[in-house]
Amino acid sequence: MRMIKVGVLSLQGAVPEHVLAIRNALKMRDQKGEALQIRDNEELADIDCLIIPGGESTTIAKLLKRFDMYAPIRELASAGVPIMGTCAGCILMAKEGDIDVKRTRTELLGLMDMRVSRNSFGRQKESFELFLDIEGLDDPFPAMFIRGPMIEDVWSGCRTLAEIDGTKVMVRQDNLLALSFHPELSRDARVHRMFLDMVTRT
Ligand code: GLN
Repeated sequence: MRMIKVGVLSLQGAVPEHVLAIRNALKMRDQKGEALQIRDNEELADIDCLIIPGGESTTIAKLLKRFDMYAPIRELASAGVPIMGTCAGCILMAKEGDIDVKRTRTELLGLMDMRVSRNSFGRQKESFELFLDIEGLDDPFPAMFIRGPMIEDVWSGCRTLAEIDGTKVMVRQDNLLALSFHPELSRDARVHRMFLDMVTRT
């Protein structure tokens, strides 16, 4: 199978953890590939898929603007390139944000038909981990929540893959995946493997 290039948006946030998780997922799939840190549009042009990590959505948004990266990322999404947003990345993937997203004037990428509310799961001191049933995985996944967003509503082609007590925490829309939690912080690379499956199938 051909070599795949996995970009990890590296403006701010949990970058090295994603790089490591991708390496583990590549091994699990016996797939040749590499994880590349993406800091500008030139680097963005040469990847097969992109991860937008957790961190601080307001900061990542400011840097996306400063480096003029909104339009190229939107183009990748509409060209069918797989993109996964985790936690802060999940917020940026959404078409609609809550009052806090509006108050901070955070420009969203607006890729997925969903509404998110920031800072809803696990205040900083109460971050938590739980075993989550995820559609497509045989066994529950150890999901880490750190002030993650709630996915309040989805519409059109956006489908729920996991929820906690009726609240959506993982959704997919065609080539796009968004998660309220941090899959890169557990030693379990199955979510990253699932994402890589999206790359080789599209
Ligand atoms: N609370 C952060 C935000 O709103 C997200 C937290 C995270 O990515 N762990 O951007």
